[in-house]
Amino acid sequence: MRRRIIAGNWKMHNNLSESQNLVTKLVNELNNQNINREVIICPPFTSLTEVSNLLDGTKIELGAQNMHFEDKGAFTGEISADMLKSVGCKYVILGHSERRTIFGESDEIINKKIKQALNAGLIPIFCMGETLEQREDGITNDVINNQVSEGIKELSEEDVNKIIIAYEPIWAIGTGKTATPEQAQEVHKFIRSLLRENFSENTSQNIPILYGGSVKPNNAEDILAKEDIDGALVGGACLDTDSFVSIIKA
Ligand code: PEP
Repeated sequence: MRRRIIAGNWKMHNNLSESQNLVTKLVNELNNQNINREVIICPPFTSLTEVSNLLDGTKIELGAQNMHFEDKGAFTGEISADMLKSVGCKYVILGHSERRTIFGESDEIINKKIKQALNAGLIPIFCMGETLEQREDGITNDVINNQVSEGIKELSEEDVNKIIIAYEPIWAIGTGKTATPEQAQEVHKFIRSLLRENFSENTSQNIPILYGGSVKPNNAEDILAKEDIDGALVGGACLDTDSFVSIIKA
């Protein structure tokens, strides 16, 4: 059975004390509850150490929102995989549409980052998704095909099996518009078919594929019920503990 995962992307929200409050509330809420999903939170860099300490002894795991593809060096303002590991990160979000569109990250850069994360022992949460224009032009599958093949280019099947994929249609991120469960399922199924073609049936059945894009307590259950949707990458709604917990329990 595939892993079921709910991941929260805090984006550029929460200073240190706000992070402490949010994570403390979350830990208290989930404490002693029988949750059958893995929970990952991805705070900003400045809160990682403190959040890592607060998560110690809990089942909630820690991820970062980005990293550089080099080991170290003259890259002012960047963070390395080793630095993330040293503060307790197990996961790193890579290829998020905000990194692609606002910061100009290409498929080539994302591929380098995925390789570097895997080499360092971090698990990439590899994001992909189409714009509204691409969907309306009927080229969603072409876009996804390209993002998948470029993102995992030259990776061994063993390494591919370590990653988590997140399908996040750009038009649904932070907009309040969600893909219908059927639209999301269709793309998830397509991603699985690409993994089957490029690797094997086992690999296509093994890799968790999360949906992201305005997942909220009122739509999570229908989305998560779909066969090929193994969890959610949650932005806005993970900043409110009640909403995030209700998605985790959906
Ligand atoms: C995201 O940033 O990954 C995301 C899905 O955001 P939101 O839930 O706010 O759409």
